[in-house]
Amino acid sequence: MNNLAQKNPTPEETPCPICGSEKFIWGRTVGESVSQWLYFRADGAGWGEGEKLRTRKCLDCRNVQLFTYD
Ligand SMILES: [Zn+2]
Repeated sequence: MNNLAQKNPTPEETPCPICGSEKFIWGRTVGESVSQWLYFRADGAGWGEGEKLRTRKCLDCRNVQLFTYD
């Protein structure tokens, strides 16, 4: 049995899907204004529903991925 295959890795434990690097900077999204966030909102959800997006930038290939917060 391989216990690693049974657990769901967190984003912190998952290498970059583009280049395989494990070197990241974590951050948040901003708009032109510092208080502006980007959100994920599911299809069919109403105005005001949504989740703020957290971001991860790969230091090797500069890809940025988006996550919601826990
Ligand atoms: Zn990368």
